[in-house]
Amino acid sequence: MKSFFEKMIDEAAEQEPLKEPAFLVEIIVCDMCHDHEDVNEHGICDDCQKAVDRGYQIQSLAGRCANGMERDRGILFHARQISEGEVSWKAYCGYHPKGRSGGWSSWKPDDRQVTCSRCLKKL
Ligand SMILES: [Zn+2]
Ligand SMILES: [Zn+2]
Repeated sequence: MKSFFEKMIDEAAEQEPLKEPAFLVEIIVCDMCHDHEDVNEHGICDDCQKAVDRGYQIQSLAGRCANGMERDRGILFHARQISEGEVSWKAYCGYHPKGRSGGWSSWKPDDRQVTCSRCLKKL
């Protein structure tokens, strides 16, 4: 077993290299989703711009349990409210990724629509 102090040193050593490249390479990514590199004059990507115009982002959950209960209906897409340029962590239906498992999926096909019936009721 490592002592608490030894663990701290290990963690610091792991985190250090991450700081370096920021000074060397400047990658501009979308301010909202942090996934896309092609951003407009507002600093956000096309997809996020559409979401802002719409008032909500349409997104599924990543990882396990992301699918809807009925297989043929495919992935469950929730609606996340956008206010003042911030996408809510919670969907309209109250659902949100729990803990460290998954998160909101970065997979966002152009033709996706809200399929969560509880979100749809609140739109
Ligand atoms: Zn974006
Ligand atoms: Zn929902």
